[in-house]
Amino acid sequence: MKFGTKAIHAGIEPDPSTGAIMTPIYQTSTYVQEAPGVNKGYEYARTKNPTRTALETNLAALENGKHCICYASGLAAMDAILKLYKPGDEIITTNDLYGGSYRLLTKIFGLFSLKGTFIDMTDANALKLAITDDTKLIWIETPTNPMLSIVDIEAISEIAQSKGVKVCVDNTFSSPYLQTPLDLGADIVMHSATKYINGHSDVIHGCVITSDDEVADRLRFIQNAAGAVPGPMDCFLVLRGIKTLHLRVERSCHNAEKIASFLRDHPAVSKVYYPGFTDHPNHAVAAKQMRMFGGMLSFDLHANSFESAEKVLSNTQLFSLAESLGGVESLIGHPATMTHASIPKEERLKVGLTDSLIRLSVGVENVEDLIEDLRKALDLVNM
Ligand SMILES: *Cc1c(COP(=O)(O)O)cnc(C)c1O
Repeated sequence: MKFGTKAIHAGIEPDPSTGAIMTPIYQTSTYVQEAPGVNKGYEYARTKNPTRTALETNLAALENGKHCICYASGLAAMDAILKLYKPGDEIITTNDLYGGSYRLLTKIFGLFSLKGTFIDMTDANALKLAITDDTKLIWIETPTNPMLSIVDIEAISEIAQSKGVKVCVDNTFSSPYLQTPLDLGADIVMHSATKYINGHSDVIHGCVITSDDEVADRLRFIQNAAGAVPGPMDCFLVLRGIKTLHLRVERSCHNAEKIASFLRDHPAVSKVYYPGFTDHPNHAVAAKQMRMFGGMLSFDLHANSFESAEKVLSNTQLFSLAESLGGVESLIGHPATMTHASIPKEERLKVGLTDSLIRLSVGVENVEDLIEDLRKALDLVNM
């Protein structure tokens, strides 16, 4: 079955009691049992809920995996994955990891002596050198945020597998429509479903997909024991969002491509970070592992100052100044003061994250209007 058909049909059955075509919101905490030990597969809603089960079946199909476990947020999903490990174990990850993931790994799991090592994951050799006897997991994010570097999932997975180390991909920036890491050799995929998967900026949600039975059993045990479950209403909203995932992502990607070209030609813009450009340093990897090049891009200004960036950020009408990404509406952000404010300036500058860097999450509006919106704001910047 192709992606669009799976998005709409996988895991979805008419409701057995009424025939309702939409999966009902099973807003219940417990289930009446026929006799002690006799039930319909549901006992208590921390463990299982039918709305959640439908969503999990659907998401497993979209990522070509056997199992999916849904969580109250993307970070709750990561938290559960990190609980698979024990003190002294090492996780190797990218040096431009999502800020919240960095905080969870260092400030919470660091307290329990889980070791985080941060490297440039676009360099497969750096990974070979970094793996030690303690390394238990490689954590990939691709494309990275906000520099839009691309990590070769297949190459990293091969190295990891040869050393008996598992690979987890945070697939939030791509969505399963653009890239399915399990097909490229990864063991675990996680998402902040808050972003593209739900796509309507009205839910916080996360999920983990894997074909590894042992990992899935352990994650279900951890979820039932620790309790980071999503509510049925949120599961319903995510399921509804998924029905248009392929349409939304496709439109975002087309819009982003046109906006990237417009920005590259604008005299106020010094550099555009977009993996769809043939001269992007990781373009070949992106072309190999992604269906399209994504709806995220960043750009820098010749004026190179916070003041010039501020002018752009505060003068767009359609691009709203906000954190987050992957919704139907376009967002504009300033990594240096918003998502990456906690990173020291010297560290930021090393990867090109300057005070004038601007990040866009391109939505599904009409691209002519989006370009006009950016043109008006950019024309205010002194060149
Ligand atoms: C937003 C995000 C997260 C965290 O997800 P929440 O749903 O906000 O908890 C993790 N990774 C990436 C790449 C994200 O963009």
